[in-house]
Amino acid sequence: MGEFELIERFFAKSAKRSDVVLGIGDDAALLTPPDNHQLVVTTDTLVEGIHFFADIPANALGHKSLAVNLSDLAAMGAEPRWATLAITLPSARMSWMEQFCEGFFELAEYYNVTLVGGDTTRGPLSLTITAQGVVPNGQALTRSHGQIGDWVYVTGFLGGSALGLKHLQGQQKLTSEQRSTLLNLHYYPQPRVLSGYGLRGVASSCIDISDGLLADLGHLAKASGCSAKIQVEQLPVHPLVESLCSPEEAIALALCGGEDYELCFSVSEENKGALEVALSYSGVHYHCIGQLVAGDEPVRLYQGKEDYHLSGFRSWDHFYSS
Ligand code: ADP
Ligand code: MG
Repeated sequence: MGEFELIERFFAKSAKRSDVVLGIGDDAALLTPPDNHQLVVTTDTLVEGIHFFADIPANALGHKSLAVNLSDLAAMGAEPRWATLAITLPSARMSWMEQFCEGFFELAEYYNVTLVGGDTTRGPLSLTITAQGVVPNGQALTRSHGQIGDWVYVTGFLGGSALGLKHLQGQQKLTSEQRSTLLNLHYYPQPRVLSGYGLRGVASSCIDISDGLLADLGHLAKASGCSAKIQVEQLPVHPLVESLCSPEEAIALALCGGEDYELCFSVSEENKGALEVALSYSGVHYHCIGQLVAGDEPVRLYQGKEDYHLSGFRSWDHFYSS
């Protein structure tokens, strides 16, 4: 099967939004953004051996490659609309492609995202997705507008995806039920798109957690020109992480494990009530874990009133050398 048959068979069948004037098939896509909105654009690459193992289920890879991009749009408070997919494949195995597309399009259709173009090449497996969304003028959430005194929150529960990864690396024994729960978190992260909408006009700053809460909240605090004070006993550690790991390891996984794809955001004292209204309809759990304070250290950890020391763990950094 040649490149063009591949595109025709697997990618050109995407359901088409009415704002897509031209999608797959021309030299570029032609899209109509709504009036009074800003375009929000993000891109993420997943490389075999770095972001996923060679034996990842193709369906999971399809889901996750889009989900990590929609998570970035969610963190901006954007409504996702369009995506492009640059895929490099060692070979075109039909069943693999079918399952990949199943995972990709199931998530795309759920959020009414149209695949409007891409590129298909041969080589070591890697995927680059660019996702585009829209946000009403001036209403995007950013990392940089947190204020000293604002409360710091996180959606969902942390550390589950990282414990699933440890299992895949042969470092954590699990029963089949635990395995299915944790691998589901690792392979099928749910982007917090509805929470992102709800947080517009309510949160002062927002970021999604890809590299781990400690690193990502650190970016938010730095961009906002302050420091984040976190109470480790308030962290929403995933219940399975809590029950399977030592207390120290559970906290470390929640802080540094990464790939949770939850939202971490700040809310002023006066918006705390509005926050309850804003997130109630999305049905997502959320917890207050600390506060933005003055200081240079991006994140300071406390247990009760004492400093909390995290040793031997760090967040994911591609260019880190020990
Ligand atoms: P060109 O050579 O003009 O760049 P291509 O031959 O690479 O165009 O692609 C033909 C059409 O198929 C384009 O509309 C392109 O966006 C689309 N396309 C190619 N690969 C993919 C893919 N993996 N997913 C979605 N659309 C794709
Ligand atoms: Mg061309």
